[in-house]
Amino acid sequence: MTNRYSQSRSLLRRAERSLSGGVSSNVRRGDKPLPLYFDSGTGSRLFDVDGNEYIDYVLGRGPLILGHTNAEVIEATCRQLWRGQVYAAQHEAEIELAERIVRIVPCAERVRFGISGSEAVHGALRLARAFTGRELIIKFEGHYHGWLDNILYSVAPSRHAVPDGVPESGGQLSSRDSRLVVLPWNDAAVLERYLDAHGQEVAAIITEPVMCNTAVIEPRAGYLEFLRDITNKHGIVLIFDEVITGFRVGLAGAQGEYGVRPDLSIFGKAVANGLPMSVIAGREDLFALIASGKVGHGGTYNSLPPAVAAGVATLNVLERENGRVYRCIREIGSALMTGIRDRAAKLGVPVVVQGHPSVFFVGFPVERDEARDVVDYTTSLAIDNDLYAQFVSAMADRGVRIIPRGNWFLSSAHTEADVEQTLMAVEESLAETVVPHYAAAGKTGG
Ligand code: PMP
Repeated sequence: MTNRYSQSRSLLRRAERSLSGGVSSNVRRGDKPLPLYFDSGTGSRLFDVDGNEYIDYVLGRGPLILGHTNAEVIEATCRQLWRGQVYAAQHEAEIELAERIVRIVPCAERVRFGISGSEAVHGALRLARAFTGRELIIKFEGHYHGWLDNILYSVAPSRHAVPDGVPESGGQLSSRDSRLVVLPWNDAAVLERYLDAHGQEVAAIITEPVMCNTAVIEPRAGYLEFLRDITNKHGIVLIFDEVITGFRVGLAGAQGEYGVRPDLSIFGKAVANGLPMSVIAGREDLFALIASGKVGHGGTYNSLPPAVAAGVATLNVLERENGRVYRCIREIGSALMTGIRDRAAKLGVPVVVQGHPSVFFVGFPVERDEARDVVDYTTSLAIDNDLYAQFVSAMADRGVRIIPRGNWFLSSAHTEADVEQTLMAVEESLAETVVPHYAAAGKTGG
């Protein structure tokens, strides 16, 4: 396999002389077997500069719910591009997209558009602080809400640290100085105790409704309802960060699937199938502060015309035939999840496969006998990331692209034939990497 990635390898060496670290986002440095260079994508497939073809389960890390270069989305985007790229002003399509989201998303009485999920999170936190007149924000261990200063704590901390979180980057203030509190997720008792003492100081609780950024962990039965009740009780703004789950786990996002309505919500990724678009959505009385100008929100590229066109086209497809796309993704994703479990069982290796058919997690436990569900950040530490990285490289060698942290994203472009081909690669990759690993660990008693 040494020459399989030679063009990518040489482009990476060239990039490192001008582009810091050779990449444009730090997470991409960690791609396996190396940060690859891509030439094009179509449907479920990506092609790299060495001419290798991949079934793509990365999907731009989530946005491509309809797969690469969906014809309707591309045509709508191109039509708009020829009429103008950026107005930094009003256009009718932004109203159409706003009306659609208000109709579809349970919490959305008003919306504002932006570009990245990170900045939309930033806007929601600011709005919550202004609305409540309080400063503290609670986030949960293992959740990711973008790379900005005041929220980038305890995403993947090496130590359990609460209520003071661990900054993920040099250059950040301490979490205390950022007025941020970190608590374990899926644990009602801990939160209840914290709020009994400090409830009156807390402006907002922000949560991924499904903990997609760590092992795609679902909320325990009743946990989201508990969050709703306890935030109501203490006058705290409840924010669902649906950047991954939005328009992916179902048309109305996780809030639709679980039937819990937050005060504010963040969308991004799938809403425009790959064009840059994010959304803050929520209660009218909160948004009144933005409408009146008391709370600042701006951005040259907000409601970017080609991205809005892509958003409308994406929703056209997603809403069609009463959500046919979601039924297809559920079927294909479930077959894949079951197939991965079956192949691992056949080879006698433990595996954790959990989450939702449209976004699920695969991992191998450090201890052979520990293939239990991962239910929170602490139990996620029992997953062997190095072993999974070897598996990811073996899959890439066989033409299947997956994320090193264990998430698999599905699109409506994935087919039964893709699943079959993927499962063959899974079986071979398990046999090459995971089977020998556990066999060696068994021999050494490890
Ligand atoms: N929130 C969540 C839940 C995310 O997964 C991400 C990105 N992966 C973000 C926010 C940040 O979005 P962006 O990368 O568009 O800034």
